[in-house]
Amino acid sequence: MQRCPECENDVDVEEIEALELDAGETFNCSACGTELKIVSIAPLTIFVGATEALLDDAIALARVAGLADVSVRLEIWPSMFHIWPNYHQVLAQGRQAVARAGRLLREAVEANEIADRSVKP
Ligand SMILES: [Zn+2]
Repeated sequence: MQRCPECENDVDVEEIEALELDAGETFNCSACGTELKIVSIAPLTIFVGATEALLDDAIALARVAGLADVSVRLEIWPSMFHIWPNYHQVLAQGRQAVARAGRLLREAVEANEIADRSVKP
């Protein structure tokens, strides 16, 4: 979902996908007509449980982002349910997900620092 900043209408991902837009192109909010732009965003990491209701939405998000040239990592965690990392205190997979998220974030920060150093004179 993408929310229209003017009227807060939720624009369905499949609706945007059907337009086959590239980053920088625009479409109009179906509720208020405001022109909305497809923008490039930072690389995404999506953790989703294999048994949760948002699995298909996570897959659709990964697809749309990939088509918009956004780097995407989609991890489907077997047998996991919605927001399982929140149960890290009692669930091994929750602890694993939190640790993995920490490693990925550290790697992203380090990669950004290396990229920043390479552009300085
Ligand atoms: Zn709107």
